[in-house]
Amino acid sequence: MKVIYPGSFDPLTLGHIDIIKRLSKMYDQVVVAVLINENKNSIFSLSEREEIIKTQIEVDGLDNVVISSFDGLLVNFAKDLGIKTIARGLREVTDYEYEKNIAMFNSKLMDGLETIFLLSNPNYSYISSSGVREVASFKGDVSSFVSREVEGKIREKFDY
Ligand code: ADP
Repeated sequence: MKVIYPGSFDPLTLGHIDIIKRLSKMYDQVVVAVLINENKNSIFSLSEREEIIKTQIEVDGLDNVVISSFDGLLVNFAKDLGIKTIARGLREVTDYEYEKNIAMFNSKLMDGLETIFLLSNPNYSYISSSGVREVASFKGDVSSFVSREVEGKIREKFDY
Protein backbone atom coordinates (compact mmCIF):
# COMPACT_ATOMS: atom_id res chain seq x y z
CA MET A 1 0.00 0.00 0.00
CA LYS A 2 1.23 3.45 -0.95
CA VAL A 3 0.28 6.86 0.39
CA ILE A 4 0.77 10.43 -0.78
CA TYR A 5 1.64 13.07 1.81
CA PRO A 6 1.17 16.41 0.04
CA GLY A 7 2.11 19.86 1.28
CA SER A 8 4.07 23.03 0.73
CA PHE A 9 6.82 22.09 3.20
CA ASP A 10 8.22 25.62 3.20
CA PRO A 11 10.09 24.74 5.26
CA LEU A 12 9.88 21.13 6.46
CA THR A 13 9.18 21.23 10.23
CA LEU A 14 9.49 18.72 13.07
CA GLY A 15 5.70 18.25 12.77
CA HIS A 16 6.03 17.17 9.13
CA ILE A 17 8.96 14.86 9.91
CA ASP A 18 6.95 13.18 12.66
CA ILE A 19 4.07 12.52 10.23
CA ILE A 20 6.44 11.19 7.54
CA LYS A 21 8.08 8.79 10.00
CA ARG A 22 4.72 7.49 11.21
CA LEU A 23 3.45 7.01 7.66
CA SER A 24 6.62 5.16 6.71
CA LYS A 25 5.80 2.57 9.38
CA MET A 26 2.21 2.22 8.19
CA TYR A 27 2.71 2.05 4.41
CA ASP A 28 5.04 0.24 2.01
CA GLN A 29 5.83 3.50 0.30
CA VAL A 30 5.30 7.16 1.19
CA VAL A 31 5.35 9.74 -1.59
CA VAL A 32 6.04 13.17 -0.11
CA ALA A 33 4.53 15.45 -2.76
CA VAL A 34 5.74 19.03 -2.74
CA LEU A 35 3.25 21.55 -4.05
CA ILE A 36 4.66 23.75 -6.79
CA ASN A 37 3.68 27.18 -5.47
CA GLU A 38 6.57 29.47 -6.25
CA ASN A 39 4.38 32.57 -5.95
CA LYS A 40 3.16 31.93 -2.36
CA ASN A 41 5.81 34.05 -0.58
CA SER A 42 7.92 30.94 -0.32
CA ILE A 43 11.33 31.17 1.30
CA PHE A 44 12.67 28.06 -0.39
CA SER A 45 12.29 27.27 -4.08
CA LEU A 46 10.73 24.00 -5.12
CA SER A 47 14.12 22.39 -5.75
CA GLU A 48 15.44 23.62 -2.39
CA ARG A 49 12.39 22.21 -0.58
CA GLU A 50 12.81 18.89 -2.37
CA GLU A 51 16.52 18.80 -1.55
CA ILE A 52 15.85 19.55 2.13
CA ILE A 53 13.32 16.70 2.39
CA LYS A 54 15.68 14.35 0.53
CA THR A 55 18.51 15.12 2.97
CA GLN A 56 16.19 14.66 5.93
CA ILE A 57 14.90 11.24 4.83
CA GLU A 58 18.51 10.14 4.31
CA VAL A 59 19.48 11.37 7.78
CA ASP A 60 16.50 9.52 9.26
CA GLY A 61 17.15 6.41 7.14
CA LEU A 62 13.61 6.32 5.78
CA ASP A 63 14.23 4.21 2.72
CA ASN A 64 10.59 3.71 1.76
CA VAL A 65 10.00 7.46 1.39
CA VAL A 66 10.29 9.13 -2.00
CA ILE A 67 9.91 12.77 -3.01
CA SER A 68 7.94 14.16 -5.87
CA SER A 69 6.27 17.43 -6.78
CA PHE A 70 2.92 18.33 -8.27
CA ASP A 71 1.05 21.19 -9.78
CA GLY A 72 -2.68 21.55 -10.28
CA LEU A 73 -5.17 19.08 -8.89
CA LEU A 74 -3.84 16.61 -6.34
CA VAL A 75 -6.29 13.97 -7.60
CA ASN A 76 -4.71 14.08 -11.07
CA PHE A 77 -1.31 13.49 -9.52
CA ALA A 78 -2.74 10.61 -7.45
CA LYS A 79 -4.37 9.10 -10.57
CA ASP A 80 -1.08 9.34 -12.49
CA LEU A 81 0.69 7.44 -9.71
CA GLY A 82 -2.18 4.99 -9.24
CA ILE A 83 -2.31 5.83 -5.51
CA LYS A 84 -5.67 6.05 -3.77
CA THR A 85 -4.70 7.24 -0.29
CA ILE A 86 -3.78 10.76 0.74
CA ALA A 87 -2.51 11.57 4.23
CA ARG A 88 -2.78 14.90 5.99
CA GLY A 89 -1.82 16.03 9.46
CA LEU A 90 -4.31 17.55 11.88
CA ARG A 91 -3.23 20.07 14.50
CA GLU A 92 -6.30 22.02 15.56
CA VAL A 93 -10.02 22.07 14.86
CA THR A 94 -9.37 24.71 12.23
CA ASP A 95 -7.19 22.20 10.32
CA TYR A 96 -10.07 19.74 10.48
CA GLU A 97 -12.62 22.15 9.04
CA TYR A 98 -10.35 23.08 6.16
CA GLU A 99 -9.16 19.54 5.48
CA LYS A 100 -12.60 17.96 5.67
CA ASN A 101 -13.85 20.14 2.84
CA ILE A 102 -10.87 19.40 0.60
CA ALA A 103 -11.13 15.67 1.36
CA MET A 104 -14.79 15.68 0.29
CA PHE A 105 -14.01 17.51 -2.94
CA ASN A 106 -11.22 15.08 -3.67
CA SER A 107 -13.35 12.01 -3.01
CA LYS A 108 -15.94 13.33 -5.49
CA LEU A 109 -13.23 13.97 -8.04
CA MET A 110 -11.65 10.52 -7.78
CA ASP A 111 -13.51 7.31 -7.24
CA GLY A 112 -12.20 5.33 -4.31
CA LEU A 113 -9.88 8.04 -3.05
CA GLU A 114 -9.48 8.08 0.73
CA THR A 115 -7.95 10.85 2.80
CA ILE A 116 -6.54 9.71 6.12
CA PHE A 117 -5.70 12.08 8.96
CA LEU A 118 -2.94 11.67 11.50
CA LEU A 119 -3.24 13.68 14.69
CA SER A 120 -0.24 15.87 15.24
CA ASN A 121 2.25 14.83 17.87
CA PRO A 122 1.25 17.09 20.81
CA ASN A 123 4.85 18.28 21.14
CA TYR A 124 4.64 19.75 17.66
CA SER A 125 1.00 20.66 17.25
CA TYR A 126 1.68 24.40 17.50
CA ILE A 127 4.36 24.36 14.81
CA SER A 128 3.52 25.75 11.38
CA SER A 129 5.74 26.53 8.41
CA SER A 130 4.35 30.07 8.37
CA GLY A 131 5.39 30.55 12.03
CA VAL A 132 8.86 29.28 11.22
CA ARG A 133 9.08 31.63 8.23
CA GLU A 134 8.14 34.56 10.47
CA VAL A 135 10.79 33.70 13.11
CA ALA A 136 13.40 33.04 10.42
CA SER A 137 12.73 36.33 8.65
CA PHE A 138 13.83 38.10 11.86
CA LYS A 139 16.82 35.79 12.29
CA GLY A 140 15.25 34.15 15.35
CA ASP A 141 16.13 30.78 16.88
CA VAL A 142 14.25 28.10 14.95
CA SER A 143 15.93 25.11 16.59
CA SER A 144 12.78 24.04 18.50
CA PHE A 145 10.72 23.86 15.32
CA VAL A 146 12.91 22.30 12.64
CA SER A 147 15.69 19.71 12.38
CA ARG A 148 19.37 20.64 12.53
CA GLU A 149 19.61 20.18 8.78
CA VAL A 150 16.72 22.53 8.09
CA GLU A 151 18.02 25.04 10.64
CA GLY A 152 21.31 25.12 8.76
CA LYS A 153 19.51 25.84 5.47
CA ILE A 154 17.45 28.59 7.11
CA ARG A 155 20.53 30.24 8.60
CA GLU A 156 22.21 30.09 5.19
CA LYS A 157 19.18 31.62 3.49
CA PHE A 158 18.74 34.45 6.01
CA ASP A 159 22.43 34.93 6.61
CA TYR A 160 22.70 34.44 10.39
P1 ADP B 1 -0.27 23.01 3.09
O1 ADP B 1 0.12 24.33 2.50
O2 ADP B 1 -0.75 22.01 2.08
O3 ADP B 1 -1.14 23.07 4.30
P2 ADP B 1 1.96 22.37 4.82
O4 ADP B 1 3.33 22.14 4.36
O5 ADP B 1 1.72 23.56 5.68
O6 ADP B 1 1.12 22.39 3.50
O7 ADP B 1 1.41 21.10 5.58
C1 ADP B 1 1.39 19.83 4.98
C2 ADP B 1 0.58 18.88 5.84
O8 ADP B 1 1.23 18.72 7.10
C3 ADP B 1 -0.82 19.34 6.17
O9 ADP B 1 -1.65 18.21 6.26
C4 ADP B 1 -0.68 19.97 7.53
O10 ADP B 1 -1.89 19.94 8.26
C5 ADP B 1 0.35 19.06 8.14
N1 ADP B 1 1.11 19.70 9.19
C6 ADP B 1 1.66 20.93 9.17
N2 ADP B 1 2.29 21.20 10.33
C7 ADP B 1 2.11 20.11 11.11
C8 ADP B 1 2.47 19.76 12.45
N3 ADP B 1 3.15 20.63 13.22
N4 ADP B 1 2.12 18.55 12.93
C9 ADP B 1 1.41 17.70 12.14
N5 ADP B 1 1.01 17.96 10.89
C10 ADP B 1 1.36 19.14 10.38
